[in-house]
Amino acid sequence: METDLFIAGKWVPASSGNRFDVLDPATGDTIASVADGGEADAIAAVEAAAAAGPGWAATPPRVRSEVLRRAFELITERAADLAKLISLENGKALTDAKGEVTYAAEFFRWFAEEAVRGDGAIATAPSGANRILVVRQPVGVCVLVTPWNFPAAMATRKIGPALAAGCTVILKPASDTPLTALAMAAILAEAGVPDGVVNVLPSRSSGRVVSAMLRDSRVRKLSFTGSTEVGRILLAQAAENVVNTSMELGGNAPFVVFADADLDAAIEGAMIAKMRNGGEACTAANRFFVEAPVAGEFARRLAQRMSELVVGPGTDEKTQVGPLVNEDTVAKVDSLVRGALEGGAAAVTGGSRPAGPGFYYPPTVLSGVAADAPILREEIFGPVAPIVTFTGEEEAVRLANDTEYGLVAYVYTGDLARGLRVSEAIEAGMVGINRGLVSDPAAPFGGVKQSGIGREGGHEGLLEYLESKYIAVNW
Ligand code: NAP
Repeated sequence: METDLFIAGKWVPASSGNRFDVLDPATGDTIASVADGGEADAIAAVEAAAAAGPGWAATPPRVRSEVLRRAFELITERAADLAKLISLENGKALTDAKGEVTYAAEFFRWFAEEAVRGDGAIATAPSGANRILVVRQPVGVCVLVTPWNFPAAMATRKIGPALAAGCTVILKPASDTPLTALAMAAILAEAGVPDGVVNVLPSRSSGRVVSAMLRDSRVRKLSFTGSTEVGRILLAQAAENVVNTSMELGGNAPFVVFADADLDAAIEGAMIAKMRNGGEACTAANRFFVEAPVAGEFARRLAQRMSELVVGPGTDEKTQVGPLVNEDTVAKVDSLVRGALEGGAAAVTGGSRPAGPGFYYPPTVLSGVAADAPILREEIFGPVAPIVTFTGEEEAVRLANDTEYGLVAYVYTGDLARGLRVSEAIEAGMVGINRGLVSDPAAPFGGVKQSGIGREGGHEGLLEYLESKYIAVNW
């Protein structure tokens, strides 16, 4: 297991000599001690990425593509070991971790394919005086900052398009889950990524190291996935040097069930949208709006399914719901549930925190949640489904849009015309109609409102790492 910084193709300790512990969320025990990168290391990483930049940008797209394809194959060959590592440091159930490895690898496969599909444009100027030629060039050195909830996929979703576009990167993984990012660096090096093209910098002083990099004028791009709160801080810092930004921020997904929906399918979709990753996903259904005639039945059936889930250590093959990532997350989930119960909601299943050890919270369904309850305003990031009853399409759309977030929404209805109408009215970057899962490396993933700026995946994901250069030409 790699535990040092990865800079310029070498494993190096932090220049300060400092290290920090990574904990097993199932026990709270230390799994590994990782080099704690500081500002000097961050600048060394920028140096390495800047030095490697011109060579990588000039590398033929086909060669860049094949390196990514090889990385996809290596991840796929080692899927079982990577899943164990993810589960160990993040806590998620092995089945979720295996799903994440497949998803993570797919970004390398997809962007291996995109790397050779670069395009440009040529047109005649309206005046007829010249031609308008548009070419695409890599943005340059990119700082990538990722969260702990998908330690592999959030890294590959950024590294894949950046490398395909010809950019070099410094990845700053979440300090709760740096081991997976370091494992990815080792795989990329083995796949043939030249020294300095990918650098990985675990750090306990994330604010300081990311600021130091953003102040360095060689850094031209920041791609961040994490909370809206930190995203706002980083947008302000990026403004200082007018750094290009992509922001994948928090979500507060509505899950809307109309009375005409296939209820079996809605329950199935709800289980996926709520429980994938134990609820620790930006795409997690956070607010369930169910039309009055089916609300009672939906709550009962969802509670039944939730109560049957096996909770335990993520690394145990039988586990369906692992512990949450850390103590703070459990405390937040617990306080949101207690607030909802005090506000008049009823716990149909779950609803109270078990005694330790480990950072566990039981699958919970709350019915009769008050419309102003804080649990409907904030990301829960845990296995809790609050249910609110509505009447009619207009109220459903109003409730769904009553949030500062706009990442994803889910709509269940037997009437496709209504599904499309509601999808267009909902303020979200993505909508699942009669589906509880939207994430796909081939589709543009991202949010509107305070859920973010830019898209990852699809062809759009590549464009985030390219600048369009316009050349006015006479010939
Ligand atoms: P977070 O606290 O915002 O942290 C995300 C990353 O930013 C981590 O690497 C963190 O490092 C770093 N960071 C924290 N403070 C920073 C600062 N002042 N300057 C620079 N970097 C800083 O988010 P999280 O708790 O890890 O992840 C959960 C959040 O991510 C949720 O809001 C979720 O919705 C969002 N998310 C969004 C998407 C999406 O695609 N839209 C996908 C997944 C997750 P440390 O670990 O050292 O604090």
